Amino acid sequence: MNKNVTLIDGIKFIDENNIRGAKALVRVDFNVPIDETGQILDDRRVRSVLPTINYLLDEKCKVVILSHMGRPKGKRIPTMSLAPVAKRLSRLLEKDVLFVEDCIGEKVKSAVRSNYDIILLENVRYYAQENENNVDFAKQIKESVEPDIYVNDAFAVSHRKHASVYALPLLFEKAKRYAGNLMKKELLSLERLLINPQKPFVAIVGGAKVSDKIGALKNILSLCDKLIIGGAMAFTFLEAMGYKAGKSLVEKDFIPVAKDVLSEAAKRGIKVYLPVDCIIAKSIDEDGIRVVPVQEIPDDYGGYDIGPATIALFSEALADAKTIVWNGPMGVFEKPQFSKGTFSMVSMIANSTAYTVVGGGDTDVAVIKMGEQHRISYISTGGGAFLQVLEGKELPGIEALKDTN
Ligand code: AMP
Repeated sequence: MNKNVTLIDGIKFIDENNIRGAKALVRVDFNVPIDETGQILDDRRVRSVLPTINYLLDEKCKVVILSHMGRPKGKRIPTMSLAPVAKRLSRLLEKDVLFVEDCIGEKVKSAVRSNYDIILLENVRYYAQENENNVDFAKQIKESVEPDIYVNDAFAVSHRKHASVYALPLLFEKAKRYAGNLMKKELLSLERLLINPQKPFVAIVGGAKVSDKIGALKNILSLCDKLIIGGAMAFTFLEAMGYKAGKSLVEKDFIPVAKDVLSEAAKRGIKVYLPVDCIIAKSIDEDGIRVVPVQEIPDDYGGYDIGPATIALFSEALADAKTIVWNGPMGVFEKPQFSKGTFSMVSMIANSTAYTVVGGGDTDVAVIKMGEQHRISYISTGGGAFLQVLEGKELPGIEALKDTN
């Protein structure tokens, strides 16, 4: 990423422009977890878009909302309907929301003609053309709604080149494409990490796989002063350094890549912190756990969390941080016996006076489980999108807002 170019250059935001009275087609991410009985288990994704919806309603806009839910792969799978979300949205807004059982065609046209000022369309992924970025499908959506403006407030899906995220905004002239308030918050928060971050800048990366995060790891090396590596991926790095990680989740193919990252960090003078001890077990279902130095993992054991000496080491490394970014848990935190490392990391970050940003599905779950969400500067709603921005890549959904067509 060019350090002189900000993430928001060339984007128009709804709160900085005159959009009064417009018919707005708003792409959001309402992909909430729902149980078999149709109960929404976590409505944070709905709540996170309320500032945009309320802003548009206050500006007397007609708001037509488009979202996906799950991966129905072009089929009408009833458990992936957005109908329960319409009810929740209505409750949160204290206002009637008209739900339409389709996102194109006559039903949409007549709903848009009604007096309702807020309408939620059915799961856009009920059409396979969505994932295919099909331009004709995007045209059908536009023709059905006949919107004045397009608003993208779905940061978490903006890394996907899908019809409602990419082809659709390009059908609008540049002046009619906007980003919503959530998108603005995401981009401004990420910008503080990527463009002249306050130093020392500590990046913490964990989770399952080096392969998922290698792009972000490499790009972060050009920005951070310290790199903390935890989770399963630490074992690939430890093997790259010549240790034996037993049955731990090691990506053998990525050992050379891990070596590259370590030598690049050394060249740049970036301090890398790896676990010095870990919690081992014969399997993740075992309770009888032991703590060993990373040099002493038996062949028939795997490492499933960082140990107490590592927690102390990581805490020292974070002590003088002015900027912290964290993606990926330190261990299998879903299991209580392997959760201490991740939950300790949450506390360390919450207690820090640094500017702190947490991103990625599992990482924010850990923060919320600890009830520390209010003591983190920003929790991103994106997983893949968050990582892709950290990789220094432009997201297709954002590129489409900036396009000069
Ligand atoms: P990611 O989506 O890559 O951030 O990975 C998150 C997953 O990594 C979580 O489900 C954790 O259980 C898993 N994980 C973290 N540490 C380990 C480990 N040491 N061994 C196996 N899985 C792990």
